[in-house]
Amino acid sequence: MLVERKICPSCNRADFVQLHETPYSDRELAEFLSAYYTKAEPIAQAKALQGGAFVILECRACGLYFQRDVPDDDFSAEIYGNWLGEDDPLAPHKPPMPVAYYSLMAAEVMQIIVFLQKRTGTNRRLRFLDFGQGWGYWSQMARSFGVDVCGIELSPKKVAYAKSVGLNIVEISDLEHCQFDFINTEQVIEHVAEPRRVVERLKKYLAPGGVIKLSVPDGKDMVQTLNSWNWMNSLARQEAIMPIHPLEHLNCFTSDSLTHMAELCGLKRISVPLITCYAYSTDWSSLKLIAKNILRPIKRFKLNKGCYALFSHRI
Ligand SMILES: [Zn+2]
Repeated sequence: MLVERKICPSCNRADFVQLHETPYSDRELAEFLSAYYTKAEPIAQAKALQGGAFVILECRACGLYFQRDVPDDDFSAEIYGNWLGEDDPLAPHKPPMPVAYYSLMAAEVMQIIVFLQKRTGTNRRLRFLDFGQGWGYWSQMARSFGVDVCGIELSPKKVAYAKSVGLNIVEISDLEHCQFDFINTEQVIEHVAEPRRVVERLKKYLAPGGVIKLSVPDGKDMVQTLNSWNWMNSLARQEAIMPIHPLEHLNCFTSDSLTHMAELCGLKRISVPLITCYAYSTDWSSLKLIAKNILRPIKRFKLNKGCYALFSHRI
């Protein structure tokens, strides 16, 4: 079933502007969902969404955009476990991703390791937590560079795969006495109904000097998109609505609202030196990648723009 969020899940205020509303009973929205969720049974889908609406609110206090009506835990498990089907291009039985996918991951891991080694002044094995580990490719990459990695993942199928390749899977309740040098959340915080509470909890497991990464879709164009949005034949245009995809991307951040939420959690945004980013960028095989390698660190760490951001304890 759907649950209504009555306060902003970032700043806890209740002063909103409504940006969009379409009831889930709307035929075109229902068609979009049926086309997207290939394994959802139509009657079960209608029943689960009964009485709810795709309502997007903008918090006047912190600028977060968020879905008012969100799936409860059981419904979320149904969506991620059954509705999505087997279409995951990252699944291990599918063909590999392009080399650029892996080289970008390798570059990120190297940049973080070198940054943390300089920051902590040590060459001991670093401890990483991959929160929302997925199939575990990022964890495997970090492990290959000598890091001790723990992962947390909800999907039983992904957990089974991660265990089959020897990854260390833990529950959040196992972490009570753990301290991590780096906590990775890649495309995770936008999915949870209580993002601030999740980040506050993760912060408890951050070692002194440790770093947490919050990386989410960038919702900078969302107001403009919603102003002219309609659901007719919308599957072909789904990329535009992706940052606030119904039932999944429950929270839609901009660079500012992401930083604001982190600050409310007692964190501050930090930067990796450009020289470290450039030294460990790996794939210079096309003009497009060369431009990305040069511009991405400037955007992230000089201009503090975009929704890939690193944070550490404020004090
Ligand atoms: Zn707010």
